[in-house]
Amino acid sequence: MPYSRQTADKSGHAEFVRNPDVQAFLKQCTYLREPSDSEAGNIVASYSPAPAGQPARLPEFVVASDASKSDSPIGDKLPSTQFGFIKVSHVLIVMAKYQELIDPKSRFVDPFKVAEMHRNAQPITFVLPGSNIKYHNAPTVRDGFRKAVYDQLAANRRTGANRIVLSETLLMLNDNQLPIANCPSVTCKKEIGHLVFTVQQPTHPCPHCGKTVYVTDWLRLHEGISDFGDNASAMTRMMNAVEHLLLGAFMLEMLQGNPMALTKVAFVMDGPLALFGEPAKLHPRIMKLMHQVNEKLARLGQEPLLVIGLQKTGIVMDHGRLMQRFLEKAYPRQGVLRVIDDTYRNDYITGSDDPAENFGHESYYGQDFLFKTETGRIFNFALPYPFAAKDGSRADFAARKVELARYGSLLERACDLIRYFELDLYSDAIVPVALAHRHASISLEPGGRVLDLMAREGLR
Ligand SMILES: [Zn+2]
Repeated sequence: MPYSRQTADKSGHAEFVRNPDVQAFLKQCTYLREPSDSEAGNIVASYSPAPAGQPARLPEFVVASDASKSDSPIGDKLPSTQFGFIKVSHVLIVMAKYQELIDPKSRFVDPFKVAEMHRNAQPITFVLPGSNIKYHNAPTVRDGFRKAVYDQLAANRRTGANRIVLSETLLMLNDNQLPIANCPSVTCKKEIGHLVFTVQQPTHPCPHCGKTVYVTDWLRLHEGISDFGDNASAMTRMMNAVEHLLLGAFMLEMLQGNPMALTKVAFVMDGPLALFGEPAKLHPRIMKLMHQVNEKLARLGQEPLLVIGLQKTGIVMDHGRLMQRFLEKAYPRQGVLRVIDDTYRNDYITGSDDPAENFGHESYYGQDFLFKTETGRIFNFALPYPFAAKDGSRADFAARKVELARYGSLLERACDLIRYFELDLYSDAIVPVALAHRHASISLEPGGRVLDLMAREGLR
């Protein structure tokens, strides 16, 4: 196998290749397909011009969300002791005001004025017990975690007369009642499917063991929690669930209170339109709500709500960065777009031998796209699937979800929004997400230390 790489890199790759054993091994290898620019050429040819409004079609308001968490153990003694801190920030950008911040010639945004917009941000924080912490003297970390999830999701997250109570949002997304099949207590697990959880009755004592079962146990976030293990992944699931529940809460309130307001706003989520792990079963509920919102808007003679999931990292974005120079070469100063259908994903991104019949069937409620802008930047964004449910066969849904006509004006409006907010200042991000991110970030040093100290103070 020919190997012509000349430059040594930091990982000592070239040094390895000079090794006689490696050389002997390479002689026994051939390529499946010889790497070439024509391979990229085939992929590039499948991109098409990105739609653009004339003039650009922009919302009046943008709400961008970003979440961060901190769950590193506090102190260095054993057993390891852990709290989870989750912070979700929303930035509201009033487009008319934002426009005033931009120099129309240089597209330069005054950073001091942008910083002022942070004052609009309303971070919502959650604190959860991790390993070795008994919340309210619960017998296990897991039982305490269940109670903490309930206490924090059942708390009103707004001041004044308004409410955001995420346990109620969870119920509203599920037609106001939720069954829970089995008692979540590890020592019980008996069948309790006859109990119905509602806004009026969000908790029940288990008829078998007497422990309290909470409506929020439906999310099954506690299932990843152990007494002394690292509970970081449960915190990630919680963060993911909270972000999407908050989006659900915003949409529900506007749908019920003032649906016309939904025509003026765009929501920008940080990350894919998907819920992973135990709370993944929430994804069809959010998909259904989006569909209800759009049906309502259609009845009012309006276009669908613009919700964008923007991914700054991940394998689709990695692939996008790889493609960036080929796309820019083939389409200089032209915006191009590709829907990431399952074939494309499997052939060029994931490369599975046994591809799923419908990618993301258990978790995604939005479709991925890759967008190279006129200025040469790459964005991976998602739009909600334009369906009420994933009915029909999986293969059938996989085909329908990539029919671009079904997305109506959303593709054009998403591209316009990304173009408007892309800036040199924030690589691979657009301004609203960057602002929300700056607000949500929990820096581990030295800011994270403060959180550790607060937690320790609270333990005394
Ligand atoms: Zn029980």
